[in-house]
This record gives sequence, C-alpha cells and structure tokens, in this order.
Amino acid sequence: MDMKECTKCGEVKAVGEFYKNGSKLRSHCKMCMAEYRKVYRKKYYQSNKEAIAEKCKTYREKNKDTIRARDKAYRERNRDAISAKDKRYREQNREAIIAKDKRYYERNREALAEKNKAWYEQNRDAIATRRKTYRDKNKDVIKARYQNNKEAISVRHKAYYEQNKDEISERSKAYRDRNRDAIRSSKKDYYERNKEDILAKRKVRYEQNKDRAKATSDRWRMANLDRVRAKRKVYREQNNDKIKSSKSKWHRDNPDKVRASKQRRRVLKRGAEGYATAEQIEARWDMWGRKCYICGGPAEATDHVKPLVKDGAGWPCNLRPVCRRCNSSKGSTWPFDIKAARELQ
Ligand SMILES: [Zn+2]
Ligand SMILES: [Zn+2]
Repeated sequence: MDMKECTKCGEVKAVGEFYKNGSKLRSHCKMCMAEYRKVYRKKYYQSNKEAIAEKCKTYREKNKDTIRARDKAYRERNRDAISAKDKRYREQNREAIIAKDKRYYERNREALAEKNKAWYEQNRDAIATRRKTYRDKNKDVIKARYQNNKEAISVRHKAYYEQNKDEISERSKAYRDRNRDAIRSSKKDYYERNKEDILAKRKVRYEQNKDRAKATSDRWRMANLDRVRAKRKVYREQNNDKIKSSKSKWHRDNPDKVRASKQRRRVLKRGAEGYATAEQIEARWDMWGRKCYICGGPAEATDHVKPLVKDGAGWPCNLRPVCRRCNSSKGSTWPFDIKAARELQ
C-alpha cells in the first residue's frame, strides 16, 4: 500500500487519507484539513457574527413560509422520533430545565403575565372549547385522578386559601365588580343549558332539607316583604291568564274546599260564630247521603238549618246538604217545619 507523510501532523498515512489536487496528493492529511476548516470556520464566524446573524435573519424573513412549511413537514415526518428525543432530553435534564425555566420566569414575570393575559383574552372561546372537549373526552380519567388525590388536593387548597385569604377575597371581589354583567349572563346561559339537571338536583336537595329550606325562605320573605310584593305584582300582571285558569282548575278540583270557604265567608259576613272545615262539611254531606235533607234530591248547596240571620251558627252541626230549589223556598224561615215542607213536595 502506498503511504505518505502529512506535513502538518507528521503522521505517515495511507494515500487514501489525503485529498487530491488535480493528479497530485495534498500535503496535509484529510483529518488535518478537517481540523483546519473547523478552526477557520469558527474564526470566521466569530469575526462576522453580526453580519451572519443579519443575513440569516433576512433569509428567514424572506423565506418564512417555505421554512415554516419545511419545518412542519419535517416534524410530521419525524414526529415520533422527535417526541422521543424531546422526552429523553427532558428526562435527562429535568433539574436544569426546571431551574432555567424558573430563572426565566422570575426575570420576565410581569411581561409573561401580561402576554399570557393578552393571549387568553384573544383566545378565550377557543380555549374554553378546547377545555370542554378535553374534559368531555377525559371525564373518567379526570374523575379518577381527582378521587385518588381528593384529600391531598383539599389540604393543598385549604392551605393556599389560608395563606392568601385577604388577597383572594380582594381579588375575587374586584373581579366580580369588573365583570358583573358578564357573570350574570354566563350564569344565566349555564342555567338555560342545564335547566333540567339543575331543577332535578334542586328538587332532591329541597326534599332532603324541606324544613330548613322552608324556614330559610320564610325568614327571607319576611325580611324582604317589599321585594316579594313587587315581584308578585309583576308576576300577576304578566301571568294573568295562567293564574286565572289555574285558579278555576283548582276550584273544579276542590269543590268541597270551595264550599267550605264560601260558608265561612257567609258566617263571617253575618258576624255569626262557628267554623267548619272542608272535611267537616264533607262529613255532613256524607251523613245525609249527599242528598237534599228536605226533598231527597241531589244536594247542590249547604244550608244553615238555623239561618245565620236568625242567629244560627257556622258550626258543622248546623249544616246540611240541600238542593237549590229547597234552599231558596226555605229562605230564612225559622222555626222551620221540615214535615210540612216535605209534604209540600
Ligand atoms: Zn496530518
Ligand atoms: Zn230539596
């Protein structure tokens, strides 16, 4: 094998280790030339740093789209390899990366916060959509993660809250003041979207805490009578027909209660004494087989046997079912001769 001595490093090497210059071999070996080029490049770079950077920048700006497309294509082609490499790198340099990030963050805290905020404001909807999609897709994972760390999370939250109490309450108050309308409308939107769920849950909760809930709302109503009245008035004005029809439905469905109430009103109007509930009047009707106590026809009203105008009372014992005809022919007769009246039939 032909050999040759390198005039730079002085080693004797195979001729394959030398570049050719025309038909002659170069006097420095390939390795020495590579070393020289490396040093030369470095020097050149050092002394032209700014010009090079400028040139690079111009180039990048001019070819922005091409570069971006190329990078993207490259990343897509090598996605797995890149992410594996990234991961490896991050794992190997974990501490250093964290420290570096932290330093960077500390140095640029305010600018970053500003930037983050601007970015968030600009992408609010997209972010919300993405979050929601993520949450919907990973519901179970999220839930499981929470369940597994429930206690730790709550401890952490509590500690954080205790440490930052004043700041938090101040901040949230300021936020609420600043975003009052937005909050209200977002609450409303949420309610509209989840109406059925919310109402169902509310109902369950109400059933479980009925007494307490009632007491609370009574207290609130008593403390806010003006508001309650105003609201009721508006409601009545807006729902006149609805109220009317529900009232008349109630009347149809509760004839006994209606009768009792009419009866009581008559008693009150006369200034007479006595009081009968719907149940007591029903019992009186049942006792008479729900028939007119004079003629035996179908009962249609309740008679005060001793008329109120003649000092009769509103007590159940003075009440009997009667038909309209007998009721009006009896009028306020007292004493009343039932036998004579029956014979007239
Ligand atoms: Zn050499
Ligand atoms: Zn009758």
